[in-house]
Amino acid sequence: MRALPATANIARVVERTLSIIKPEVVARNQIGAILQHVEQTGLRIVATRMLQLDRRQAEGFYDVHRERPFFQSLVQFMTSGPVVVSVLEGDDAIARYRKLMGATDPEQADAGTLRKLFGTNVEHNAVHGSDAPDTARTEVAYFFGEADLVPR
Ligand code: ATP
Ligand code: MG
Repeated sequence: MRALPATANIARVVERTLSIIKPEVVARNQIGAILQHVEQTGLRIVATRMLQLDRRQAEGFYDVHRERPFFQSLVQFMTSGPVVVSVLEGDDAIARYRKLMGATDPEQADAGTLRKLFGTNVEHNAVHGSDAPDTARTEVAYFFGEADLVPR
């Protein structure tokens, strides 16, 4: 019997991940440019919305970073103007979006990544993306109800 290609056994997992387009990118009118990269990468936007985070929402979202020295500054930045939150769906969406985003610090990010292209510094780094399935679930639910998501 002919052996199947090695990849045939690897189950592709359809995932959802939360993206945030941060305030400095929205202020620069570059929402569409970011979403164009997302779509070109093959991820599907299944929900998206603009909102102005208040301090409590930003602190709650970044709760894991509460003890970090940059926490207050990060909260201040994330509440400085509107953000665009989106749910992205696709095979391996979490890792694929992290790869598209690049390293946290735009200076360290690979060429062609969102943070290299649109980021300014380690705090003003253009975008957020969930880092694991459990955080993705929590973060999607932080902004969207199940009825807001349109799988396609
Ligand atoms: P994100 O969670 O936003 O996708 P990340 O997982 O690459 O980014 P984290 O370590 O989770 O990075 O940090 C969360 C956010 O806090 C970063 O995206 C950045 O805006 C800010 N941040 C991280 N490190 C620093 C730092 N040293 N100084 C200032 N801000 C920072
Ligand atoms: Mg993170």
